[in-house]
Amino acid sequence: MADLKTILKYQDIDLKLRRLTDSIEKSETAKRGALARNEFEAAKKSMEETERNASDVVETVNAVTGATKDAQAKVAAAAERVKDKELTSKERKQLISELEAIKAKLSENEKKVEPTKKKGEKIVDEYTKQQTHAKKMRDIYNASKEKVDKDRQDKEKDLSELKRQLDELRPNIDKELMKVYDGLAAERKFPPVVEAHIGERDSLSCRGCGLQLSQAGRSELTDKGVCRCDNCRRVIYMPQGAKAKK
Ligand SMILES: [Zn+2]
Repeated sequence: MADLKTILKYQDIDLKLRRLTDSIEKSETAKRGALARNEFEAAKKSMEETERNASDVVETVNAVTGATKDAQAKVAAAAERVKDKELTSKERKQLISELEAIKAKLSENEKKVEPTKKKGEKIVDEYTKQQTHAKKMRDIYNASKEKVDKDRQDKEKDLSELKRQLDELRPNIDKELMKVYDGLAAERKFPPVVEAHIGERDSLSCRGCGLQLSQAGRSELTDKGVCRCDNCRRVIYMPQGAKAKK
C-alpha cells in the first residue's frame, strides 16, 4: 500500500516537528514561565480585592471625619449661644443635653477610629506583599519568555524545514487518509497510524490504546492491510513481514 508508506513518512516528520515544538513550548523554562504568569494573574486579582476592602475603610474614615466635623460645628454654635445672651434655666438644660449628645457621638467615633486604623494598616501591609509578589512573578515570566523566544529563534530554521517537508508530502497522500490523520492528531491521538501488536496465539491489538481487534477488524486488516481501531479509531497496519491469520 503506497499511501501507507507515505503517511508513515509523514508521521515520522510530524513526530520530529512535534518533539522540537515541545522542546520549546514544554521546556522547564516555559513551564516555569506559565506558572509565574498564573501566579501574577492571581496576585493582580488579590490586589483588586484588597483595593475594594480599602475603599470600605476610606468610606468609614470619611463618615467618621464628617461626623466629627459636624460635632465640632455644633460645639462652636453652642459656644456662640453661651456668649450671646443670658440663658434661661430651660435653655441651659437644653444646651447641656445637646453638648452631652455631641460628646457621646465623639466618643462613639473614637471607638470606630482604632479598629479602622488597624484594618487600614493591615490592608496596606497585604497590598504591599501582593504587589511585591506580583512584581516577582512578572519578572520570572518575562525572563522565561525571553529565553523561550530565543530558543524558538534558534530552532526556527529546523522548524520551517520540517514544516516544508510536511507540506511537500501532503499532496502525495490520499485525501481521505490525510483527513483521518489530521482528525486523530487534532484529538491528540498521536501517533494516528500504528502497527498492530501481535500477541499470544496471534491475537492482534492496537498499539495506540492496547485494545484487541474485533473479528471484523482482523479481517479488514488481513484483506486491506489496514483497519481502524474500534476503540480509539487509530489507523492500524500490519507489521512488515507479518501475516495475520483470518
Ligand atoms: Zn486503539
